[in-house]
Amino acid sequence: MSEKEVAAKSERLTAVKGMNDVLPPDSAAVEWLEGRVRSLMARYAYRNIRTPIVERTPLFVRGLGEVTDIVEKEMYSFEDRLNGDPLTLRPEATAGVVRAVVEHSMLYDGGKRLYYMGPMFRHERPQRGRYRQFDQIGAEALGFSGAEVDAELILLAVALWKDLGLTDVRLELNSLGQPQERLLHRQALIAHFERHIDALDEDARRRLHSNPLRILDTKNPAMQAVVESAPRPLDYLGAASLAHFNALKTILDANDVAYTVNPRLVRGMDYYNLTVFEFTTDRLGSQGTVCAGGRYDYLVEQLGGKPAPAVGWALGVDRVLELVREQGLGAVEPTLDAYAIVPDVSALPLVLQTLQALRAAGVSVQMHASSGDGMGSMKSQFKRADSSGARYALIFGADEISKNRVTVKSLRDGSGAQATQALADIADWAPTLQLRT
Ligand code: ATP
Ligand code: MG
Repeated sequence: MSEKEVAAKSERLTAVKGMNDVLPPDSAAVEWLEGRVRSLMARYAYRNIRTPIVERTPLFVRGLGEVTDIVEKEMYSFEDRLNGDPLTLRPEATAGVVRAVVEHSMLYDGGKRLYYMGPMFRHERPQRGRYRQFDQIGAEALGFSGAEVDAELILLAVALWKDLGLTDVRLELNSLGQPQERLLHRQALIAHFERHIDALDEDARRRLHSNPLRILDTKNPAMQAVVESAPRPLDYLGAASLAHFNALKTILDANDVAYTVNPRLVRGMDYYNLTVFEFTTDRLGSQGTVCAGGRYDYLVEQLGGKPAPAVGWALGVDRVLELVREQGLGAVEPTLDAYAIVPDVSALPLVLQTLQALRAAGVSVQMHASSGDGMGSMKSQFKRADSSGARYALIFGADEISKNRVTVKSLRDGSGAQATQALADIADWAPTLQLRT
């Protein structure tokens, strides 16, 4: 082995920068959120879709637009080693969902309501609320053109915030109009920025003719004035687009959903038209957008399907959970009903058999297991039982076992009360161990 190889071998292997391990107990919070989302999606009749994490690169180039942050600089792209196919780790899921919907002709018998959860990959500068692998949860309604579905999706998100206990989330809305209107706005926008070319930064100048709308989305404070005075998409809406926007606002008003119209709100991807929206919070510093979405009526056709309207949103799991923590909510320690104390290894076959029956009856039990130097003393086993958080200890001592019984000792109510139970009657006493049924 060369010196270099030796060094490489002894070097500690670590996770890729910006890609985080989610360890217990933090992972419980993610599971908790996913559980709340599943239950809510079922009530809104949205069904789960699972698409691959790797897609062909042209899907994103065509779907998201060439002059977007994601396609220009954030994609993890590589060639398939065997056949050279250009592939990309998905930076977002809408393009993949639309690809799947088209590929499987899912709209042949009407619109579909879908949701997904899973990891996305973007090569960004890692910081609070911004990672290179991050989870998103998203909802998409395809095949529906009316503002009532825009409203349904927004109400679904609002219901989720309520369900999670979040209060400091604001809704911002805008309408980008239809392609013809966007074109007129775009011309006015280019003219405006050309008049103020000195006020534009390098990024904006580069985008001036390829994607001027995105200049409105700049995070450069020095450009705020030129952006503030720029023509607004709202001023270019025709009657039908205005009617769509007003219908949405009427439904939100009727449901007491507070919102502000933000005429500067545009979205990172090219595929949006009409409604765009974001849920933001002040509690997370500069990464304050927790959920974002809008209408994308032309994406299905652009990706090769029969024209079909669509609308959806995606939320950032990390940011939502940070907000949950920030508001002191969702402390979701998993609970354990019992801890099995096993003084002697000879009891193990019976212990495992008994625990199997208890778990089948719905009881959560952690088994004491040996750690190199045997099962350990009773004292150390009780210590483990205590720190496990279990409400009961199950003691499989020689005495108990000889009578086909187990001692159940209360660990949490201070009484230390204990009783021996017959192994033959598990079904009778198992329910008394359960915190939740
Ligand atoms: P930003 O302006 O913050 O970069 P974006 O417009 O790129 O956001 P979307 O593509 O709309 O974000 O993604 C929807 C949501 O996913 C965001 O509102 C955010 O909550 C979350 N998100 C986006 N990028 C990241 C990331 N790199 N790390 C963690 N969460 C992210
Ligand atoms: Mg981004």
